[in-house]
Amino acid sequence: MSSSEDVLKSLVSHSKEYGFVFPSSEIYDGLSATYDYGPYGVDLKNNIKAYWWKAMVQIHSNLVGLDSAIFMHPTTWKASGHVDAFNDPLIDNKDSKKRYRADVLIEEHIEKLRLKIEKEIEKAAQRFGESFDRDMYLKTNPRVLGYAEEMKQVRTRMKSALEEGNLEALRNLIVDLGVVCPLSGSKNWTEVRQFNLMFATELGSVSGEASTIYLRPETAQGSYVNFLNVQKSARMKIPFGIAQIGKAFRNEIIARQFIFRMREFEQMEMQFFVRPGTEMEWFEYWKAFRIKWHAILGLGDSNYRFHDHIKLAHYANAATDIEFNFPMGFKELEGIHSRTDFDLKAHESFSGRKLQYFDPELQESYIPYVVETAIGLDRMFLAVLSASYKEEQLEDGSLRTVLAIPRCLAPVKLGILPLVKKDGLPELAMSIFNALRLDFTCQYDEKDAIGKRYRRQDAIGTPYCITIDHQSLDDGMVTLRDRDSMNQERIAINDLKLLLHERLDMSSLLQQLI
Ligand code: ATP
Repeated sequence: MSSSEDVLKSLVSHSKEYGFVFPSSEIYDGLSATYDYGPYGVDLKNNIKAYWWKAMVQIHSNLVGLDSAIFMHPTTWKASGHVDAFNDPLIDNKDSKKRYRADVLIEEHIEKLRLKIEKEIEKAAQRFGESFDRDMYLKTNPRVLGYAEEMKQVRTRMKSALEEGNLEALRNLIVDLGVVCPLSGSKNWTEVRQFNLMFATELGSVSGEASTIYLRPETAQGSYVNFLNVQKSARMKIPFGIAQIGKAFRNEIIARQFIFRMREFEQMEMQFFVRPGTEMEWFEYWKAFRIKWHAILGLGDSNYRFHDHIKLAHYANAATDIEFNFPMGFKELEGIHSRTDFDLKAHESFSGRKLQYFDPELQESYIPYVVETAIGLDRMFLAVLSASYKEEQLEDGSLRTVLAIPRCLAPVKLGILPLVKKDGLPELAMSIFNALRLDFTCQYDEKDAIGKRYRRQDAIGTPYCITIDHQSLDDGMVTLRDRDSMNQERIAINDLKLLLHERLDMSSLLQQLI
């Protein structure tokens, strides 16, 4: 088994054991690609949402929130293009009977070529030592140039096949590249077919096409159809944005890799309405802002990279993904798209209602252009979890599993632990617990030896433990133990609240975004 599979497996079992994520309806053997968030998972999720909402809506005076319904008038999805074009090109392996997304198989082949280049660079760097010139090597080494050329050719062929909707060309590319099924190892592929990803259901008791409605596959359309409601009611002037957090549903065919690809998931999306012609400036602004939002969490700068889209969606004139280094490699975490006036224009023409903005400076009306930032909450959760999960060998030879979750996102902020269950220590610990739980999510724990209790808090990512010992009764001081360094410091009980606010509050992160 590859080590990346090992890491993912460890995350899945840790998430279950410690109440972060459970397989949905597990007593019935689960439902594929659907998960439930447990007691700590729901708090981590809420904290990620709060970080996003504060960074977007609270600190931008030109962003406002919306919570639109999951069900929308069916014409919405005609106008948006989802009924006709929200398809994945699928291919089956005849031997394993496994189904794959054709474009993903090709992207994976490209990634393999990129890794080959990396390997060549690594080898050369070792060989040449300090005199190694990476840029020169990339430009001149024949093997590296060969791989780079192959990557370019594969990209070009894939782009034109996808743009033309040429499914046969897509299949030919897979065959020509000699792509094998990871499961059966065979190259015995079916044709490529299109598959619509929207879940359909029926409204009320009438059946038939007229009553077919869809579970929304994205939150964005709710923001578009409410564009004028929001603009007028909140007295917004362009440029301004609408932010939403909510569930989305996609009948994903290939739903593996834990909470990375689910059929029911949550999105945090923001639609920013701008004057036509200024969209590229705003696209750059949001690209920079969003990568900073990620970077200051401290999950590691090298875990992120931008990936510009090979094929632009029908609505976009620029698009990039922020990819994260998940246990299965670099994959899309967030998309930033310049969507032009495609959506508002389409809704105007399908609804017959004007969706225009009168610009007082220009003294004219126009359909605004839109720049969107769209991040999957569950993928962000997985990014946080996978970058935080650590197994460490301690000096005494024992092993500790720790979740080094960014402090302000941690589900439980403080473990409050009396050293022993007697001599008045529990009472003092309880009074500290009661004083702090109004401000922080706290957990009181008096069961088992102190070392074991520290391990339990480490495993759920609690940034600090407060230990109350006999001396605390005399001097009014407690031990504050840091999760990551395991350092311990003595702090006066009276100083705890202020100090903990400084170290745990989200505001120190938000400050860096202003
Ligand atoms: P992918 O190419 O991985 O299918 P996408 O490009 O279709 O994703 P978008 O339509 O841009 O995704 O959706 C915005 C965000 O929603 C994505 O960046 C991702 O984080 C999240 N997302 C999309 N599909 C899923 C899913 N099935 N499960 C979990 N998160 C998802």
